[in-house]
Amino acid sequence: MGKYTLKCLQCGSEYQGDYRLKCDHDNSFLRANYHTKQLALKRTKGMGKFYDWLPIHKQLDTDAAPITYKSEELARELGLTNLYIGFSGYWPERGALVRTCSFKELEAHPTMQRLKEAGGSAIVVASVGNTARAFAHVSAMTGIDVHIVVPHSGLSRMWLPEEPTDSIHLIRMAEGNDYTDAIYLADRIAQLPGIMSEGGAKNVARRDGMGTVMLDAAVTIKRIPDHYFQAVGSGTGAISAWEAAIRLRCDGRFGKHFPKLQIAQNLPFAPMLSAWNAGRREIIPQIDMPDPKKDIGEMYADVLSNRAPPYSVTGGLFDALSATNGLMYGITNDEAKEAKSLFELLEGIDILSPSAVAVASLIKAVRAGNVAKDDVILLNIAGGGTERLKQDYSLTMMHPIASAKNPDVPLDDLIQSGKY
Ligand SMILES: [Zn+2]
Repeated sequence: MGKYTLKCLQCGSEYQGDYRLKCDHDNSFLRANYHTKQLALKRTKGMGKFYDWLPIHKQLDTDAAPITYKSEELARELGLTNLYIGFSGYWPERGALVRTCSFKELEAHPTMQRLKEAGGSAIVVASVGNTARAFAHVSAMTGIDVHIVVPHSGLSRMWLPEEPTDSIHLIRMAEGNDYTDAIYLADRIAQLPGIMSEGGAKNVARRDGMGTVMLDAAVTIKRIPDHYFQAVGSGTGAISAWEAAIRLRCDGRFGKHFPKLQIAQNLPFAPMLSAWNAGRREIIPQIDMPDPKKDIGEMYADVLSNRAPPYSVTGGLFDALSATNGLMYGITNDEAKEAKSLFELLEGIDILSPSAVAVASLIKAVRAGNVAKDDVILLNIAGGGTERLKQDYSLTMMHPIASAKNPDVPLDDLIQSGKY
């Protein structure tokens, strides 16, 4: 008897929990249905304490985990009395030890563990930066091979808190290619023998790993928050927060309400915002992202640039926003930069650009009256502490083993240069 089954959110088909990414009948999300309905925290370091609701059968060996604390300074500035910060990054003074400095690492640990348990030995991921660091770090820790496709714009983010290992295979894409091109090439590489796709948002290990931010908040605050703020590119983190809240409601000890998802995209590239504001489940490229490459080039937080986000899919972001009476915001570069300075000054830790977008959306929400003074608010600071990390670690850059001109490049060329 497994620990969980996978259930299709469209047709209801159920599957035993193996490394399955999709239903046999449709393209809907599968969701993990854990047999344990009340969360019992395990006495262990790191995110493994949420083992009950992670799709793995052996315990994780990492001290990385999200932390939650009650804000004083930013809360006072905004006139809020119950503002909680969910922080995934490096901030040892508060017990935050995510050394790749983003909540992508919360996805990588259970995803690699799930792959290993299913007999896989190599995985391919596409990334603009944070996901690459996360999977490379776990690869260095576990020896599981990871192939990483990164667009040129992400190369500066390819650092690690340790020496890169031979298990990390970095493929650089030439200038002019964006995140979605990287996803396309990664999908092609996943067809090669012995390499498995990480599946993106379709992989329950990724979603439930990210969902630990909401779990940590609920066990810290002792209830489900009223509002959840996060910046989104694919929206997977917000979907994960919603799914975690579904499980917490079922648990019964944390309240029966949903957190209102209040999420933000960085203008000018905001296809989900455009579709959501028009009341549409479908993203229509001509309307919602008429000039994507140009707009992505102008973004401050360019890691939030997914041209094919899991928005329309059953169980995706549209459903998450609908179920939680959610809201979306568009944040300009200037608003994000201003919010970053304010947060760093008041809270005392550096944050990554997507988190700056999240802070800006909270400021907007307060001004618009979309939160009340005493509401319980969770602000997901999904990445931060890189400057703090540099005080304790010397960072090393990963070096590409192969280059791709475009997503249609012959795989033979890559294979030759990439020692596949
Ligand atoms: Zn189905």
